Amino acid sequence: MFLIKEIEFINYKDDEIIMINLINGATDIIEKDIYELIIKNEFDKLPEDVIKAMIKRRYLFKTEKQYLKFIESLNSRLEELERSATPSFLVVPSYACNLHCIYCYEQTYMIKGTVDIDSLKMVDIQFDRIDKIMKSYEEKYGKCNDDIRITIMGGEPLLRCNLKTVRYIFESAKKRNYSIDIVSNGVDLNYYIDLFNEYKETLKHIQITVDGVKEVHDSRRIFHDGRGSFDLIMNNIKLALENNIQIVLRVNVDGSNINELSSLADTLIERFKNNKNLKPYLYLLQDGGCSGEQNIVDEKIGIERIYKLEEQNPNMRVFRKKFHPETFIESIFNDIPYQPVLRHCGAAKNQFILDCKANVYKCWHGIGNNDYRVGIFYPKYEIDDEKIDNWFNRSVNVIPKCRNCKYRYICGTGCPAAKHMNNNDMDVKGPSCVKYNELIKTIVLEKMKNLK
Ligand code: SF4
Ligand code: SF4
Repeated sequence: MFLIKEIEFINYKDDEIIMINLINGATDIIEKDIYELIIKNEFDKLPEDVIKAMIKRRYLFKTEKQYLKFIESLNSRLEELERSATPSFLVVPSYACNLHCIYCYEQTYMIKGTVDIDSLKMVDIQFDRIDKIMKSYEEKYGKCNDDIRITIMGGEPLLRCNLKTVRYIFESAKKRNYSIDIVSNGVDLNYYIDLFNEYKETLKHIQITVDGVKEVHDSRRIFHDGRGSFDLIMNNIKLALENNIQIVLRVNVDGSNINELSSLADTLIERFKNNKNLKPYLYLLQDGGCSGEQNIVDEKIGIERIYKLEEQNPNMRVFRKKFHPETFIESIFNDIPYQPVLRHCGAAKNQFILDCKANVYKCWHGIGNNDYRVGIFYPKYEIDDEKIDNWFNRSVNVIPKCRNCKYRYICGTGCPAAKHMNNNDMDVKGPSCVKYNELIKTIVLEKMKNLK
């Protein structure tokens, strides 16, 4: 018998252990004496039904050869799936912004690009490139019937002065039957309501970020004259919800706002009454950007703190918690099969970012940063093949440290931008580890409390 190494054992109760298959998410509670036999490889002493169940749930293979064959076939299936992942695009209509957030990277970038062409013409050029990328994708992988998503980002894309350009992006997307989402600070959203109502089918959601309760948010997300933006954003969220527009509300969490999350949850419930179109989520910041690292909270400590707050205030349930192993843990608790990954995100698959200066990037956090652009798309298409390959090769089967990591099918090499943007040292070829052992344990045990 061969026991896979991709297993997590978690002490649950005095005589019970939680056993998790880190490849497919199968999870079982086993007695301690069974656990002892398993880790000592004394399978001949295990009851037959336990052996059968362990083989069925792929904790156990009859031989190592069978296990290796399974891994080989899994890897090749995933590789095929990820190489042919549905393309997605981000377009940047301008880099201007109406806020002056204290941690924003973009203020530190000198955005390269000599092209300075009319913004509507640029939309045509961006979509012409998107058409060409789609054409070469379909030549390789066949007709793509999935939803093609265009994300509009900035700077701040929803500036009043961008209205014509953003309208043209909607028109261009609709013509091709693509859908749109937008990442915005939300302060000028009211000027776009008519456009959004006109393109209801095309617009999927708008992501807006708040940094906590009014006092905290207004000390960080400020206008150039120092005014806070909280009230304006809340009013615009209300307006969007009244118009049936889905708002994904991201809350960046660090040491300076974690203790106020409970009040923010109360504010959201009070103002928006669990509106189904409002999707708030918490994101524990891993990098402080230009404001430094002093407020970054260790993810495990942050998770424990957030669950504690939830125990004290049920309104905290309004937040989805986007912690690292979220998709994996959700699959366990929702009893749905886990889809293992070799790659962390779209940057290592078919995601392309086209900005208004004709630069091409792969990663969201690289936008506007010369070090991370992978080419240009105007006046001609010139891509640095090595840079693009570095992204596509960001797979757990390529990076040596990841190859033998038992968390690889959950992690997919991690996000190289999460911790390193501050020093401009994002290493696309290197692993970006997260402490999955402690995070999985912490979250599973917290969730088990709620199952009782
Ligand atoms: S920031 Fe990280 S997760 Fe986001 S696109 Fe870049 S590599 Fe992927
Ligand atoms: S980045 Fe680290 S945690 Fe992730 S798969 Fe690689 S070695 Fe494992």
